[in-house]
Amino acid sequence: MRDSYGREITYLRVSVTELCNLRCRYCMPAEGICKREHEEMLSEEEIVLAIETAASLGITKLRITGGEPLVKKNIVSICEKAAKVPGIRELCLTTNGTLLPQLAGPLKKAGVDRLNISLDTLDREKYRYITRLGELDQAIAGIEAALSVGFERIKLNAVLIGGFNDDEIPRLAELTRTWPVDLRFIEMMPMYDGGDFSAGSFIPCDTVLQKLPGLVEEPRDGGVARLYRLPGAQGRIGLISPLSSHFCGECNRIRLTADGKLKPCLHGREEFSVKGLDAEGMREQFVKAILSKPAWHGELSYTQRSRSGRNMNRIGG
Ligand code: SAM
Ligand code: SF4
Repeated sequence: MRDSYGREITYLRVSVTELCNLRCRYCMPAEGICKREHEEMLSEEEIVLAIETAASLGITKLRITGGEPLVKKNIVSICEKAAKVPGIRELCLTTNGTLLPQLAGPLKKAGVDRLNISLDTLDREKYRYITRLGELDQAIAGIEAALSVGFERIKLNAVLIGGFNDDEIPRLAELTRTWPVDLRFIEMMPMYDGGDFSAGSFIPCDTVLQKLPGLVEEPRDGGVARLYRLPGAQGRIGLISPLSSHFCGECNRIRLTADGKLKPCLHGREEFSVKGLDAEGMREQFVKAILSKPAWHGELSYTQRSRSGRNMNRIGG
């Protein structure tokens, strides 16, 4: 289906939980978040019905996200059902990777096509600092498990943070030589609650081009990243710049939160609830949400924060 600005909406991002086993400083408060009542959150049946409804309106690509989707007990079953929905051609999942040693195999078998795995640093101490609870070795084991069960076109996502990982840009980029993976650098977004980082920590993606002068430009592949490659590397380097150059004109996505709210725009306050609705009711809300997509998200910078009213763990990125 097309929105009011003629953009074809083909991509649904579904957050299946707000909870996480980590507490990344740009995403979640140290104490985590209050666990909400079970009844407030979408059930497995409602998630599947929402995906079926979306597919009937022309959604072909699905991304399962969170919070951390792999802490959800029924994640394999949700993926298995989502993969079977007619019209869904690509099922992707975004994870911090730490539970992939146990779950990579079952997820592959359930029909997940592609994984994005978050990794901001290759230093054990820094990994512990940024995630507050995580162990780097677990995330690395997760990436290796995903490769060993046959996941292809894996993308590693690193959020760029000035004074934290800008000195690691070359080392992170080398991962595209070590493994057959793409690495994407993502500008840190000024979400609703500032987290631990202020404007001074924001660095634009162009910093990567300065630090890696040998990068060779590659053709875009329809996604939001500008693409490059280190000579001879197996994978590509992607730059995602939501702040320094927004991509609202090409936006093809809509988001569903774990508590059943459709968000037409990541940075907008508007939400449409599908919780408790039947197929027809959900369809009406999807149509309304798609038609409410704004032309762009409005000014966004470290002084002009996101108007989403939620942090990333409660939207899904
Ligand atoms: N837990 C999973 C993970 O970390 O990959 C999935 C959910 S997480 C909210 C999705 C993505 O959003 C991650 O790659 C994370 O790094 C990114 N993210 C979270 N907060 C962000 C922020 N303030 N700016 C940019 N990216 C952010
Ligand atoms: Fe959890 Fe992902 Fe947020 Fe980190 S970025 S706290 S892993 S949801």
